[in-house]
Amino acid sequence: MTDPDCIFCKIARGEIAATKIYDDAQVMAFHDIRPQAPVHFLIVPKAHLATLYDADASHQQALGRMLTMCGRLAREAGAADGFRTIINTGRVGHQEVYHVHMHVLGGPEPLGAMLQRKK
Ligand code: AMP
Ligand code: ZN
Repeated sequence: MTDPDCIFCKIARGEIAATKIYDDAQVMAFHDIRPQAPVHFLIVPKAHLATLYDADASHQQALGRMLTMCGRLAREAGAADGFRTIINTGRVGHQEVYHVHMHVLGGPEPLGAMLQRKK
């Protein structure tokens, strides 16, 4: 449910500061500490879940909530003309923090290519 050493669990428990933009029983959202776009925040389940490999039916509500909240939160954060969601998983996905999080990235200008094309 909660991991004593996990940085996003610590944010959820209020032990580490974050610029929160949303908080409910299932999920919370806060600005990414190293933004890669004018709008860049993370939506995370409140309960610890290391990766999408570990997701099961018990996580459906929180994972669904992340998707149903992201549009409203993106608009409120200033991305009213489109945004990108990314969930990195594991080594190949370059996951750095092992607590599932959805990146929400937005403009105002269009973002770059989703992945660099190899010619
Ligand atoms: P990734 O695991 O690669 O999908 O990305 C982890 C993201 O978490 C990075 O974009 C970091 O900048 C961000 N991050 C790490 N620590 C914090 C923190 N304490 N508060 C906000 N964002 C963080
Ligand atoms: Zn955690």
